[in-house]
Amino acid sequence: AIFLIGLITLRLISKPLLRLEKAALEMSGGDYSSRVPKIGDKTSEISRLSDTFNEMADKLRTVIINLEEKNNKMDIILNSIDSSILVTDEHFGVIFMNDAARNEFCDDSFSKEGVYPFISIVRSDEADKMLKKALDDGIPVSSTIKINTRKGNRIFSGIVCPVSGPNDKKAIFTLRDITQITGLQKMRSEFVANVTHELKTPLTSIRGFIDTLKNGAMTNPDVAGRFLDIIDIEAERLHKLILDILTLSEIEELSEDRDVETFDMYGLIDEIIVLLDEEASSNKVSLLSDNESLEAFGSLYVRANRGRIKQILINLVENAIKYNFQGGKVIIGAYKADDASIDIKVSDTGRGIPSEHLARIFERFYRVDKGRSKDQGGTGLGLSIVKHIAMLYNGSVKAESQPGQGSVFTVNLKI
Ligand code: ADP
Repeated sequence: AIFLIGLITLRLISKPLLRLEKAALEMSGGDYSSRVPKIGDKTSEISRLSDTFNEMADKLRTVIINLEEKNNKMDIILNSIDSSILVTDEHFGVIFMNDAARNEFCDDSFSKEGVYPFISIVRSDEADKMLKKALDDGIPVSSTIKINTRKGNRIFSGIVCPVSGPNDKKAIFTLRDITQITGLQKMRSEFVANVTHELKTPLTSIRGFIDTLKNGAMTNPDVAGRFLDIIDIEAERLHKLILDILTLSEIEELSEDRDVETFDMYGLIDEIIVLLDEEASSNKVSLLSDNESLEAFGSLYVRANRGRIKQILINLVENAIKYNFQGGKVIIGAYKADDASIDIKVSDTGRGIPSEHLARIFERFYRVDKGRSKDQGGTGLGLSIVKHIAMLYNGSVKAESQPGQGSVFTVNLKI
């Protein structure tokens, strides 16, 4: 009887303890919803133990859910940043990368879970040195670095921040792609330098002649007349240059053109021929419209800013006259390219453009023959203006040329 009573008592004590052990095992395996049923009367130790266990399980579950939520939020934030963020351990192994870093530096051979050496991901000795310095010295290191990434050669603004934990050190490497900004800044400062130079040249010349006049040349009417003519030409060049710079900056600011109207392209070409006839005659160049296209279609209606399209034609035709031979020809034509666009073509029989210059003539202030362009009143901005107007109409420009035989400029406009 004593043995039986002992066995039953043992069972009564061990059963809840076994249930407790099972719940603890389930929790350690990751199931935080596991609970121990109520055992015995409320005041017994076993019942209090199970209550405490369940309370602890509830708290643990809340803490884990909060942590998971925080982790998810952190992941969303880090992956929505467009700069590359890489976290490394003190042995330069990358233990975390955001999506931007993965897209910039990793191909499919890098698994998400793997820890890879920093240099095998960011292939730049300079970046590697920055990381080492930050981890060794324990202070942030920043620099602008060029890195060859999956997207090609890029320029980054990089900063490494060391983070010291109780047992180890880590570093957070942030890389912001500044390739485009750097390119724009370079272009802008080159443009400012060019504009300053271009403005300075005629101004210096004007001041020089005024000085000479003041110093006595005024007394000789012939010399004074010649000098005043030169001053007039230089002032006119200055005026043209300023107008071109203003036009260019106005076009660049627009995302689409204003004051759009419907007009006939052939009518505009006729107007250009009348407008530039005198200039062409004084250069002994004949100006023709492409009669074939005119006879075939009668009229070609387009919707655009007429002044802007006129500017394209004036710039191209003036060049075709300027860089032509005496007795040469300029032919202007407009054609329907497809349902949504037209081609404007200006061909000449002039000196042409050597192939090595063709790709660059649409750049601002680029001239094949600087002296000739300036002698003929060129600002070096005409073709750049043509290109920017074409871009305003989602179009493109193309130049083909045979040196010594002539050039053909084609502007495609979605109008
Ligand atoms: P510019 O004011 O010097 O004419 P543009 O931007 O209009 O400037 O043209 C850039 C350069 O391209 C010119 O300096 C000239 O060397 C060359 N060019 C433009 N059009 C022609 C053409 N029809 N024939 C030969 N060269 C040309």
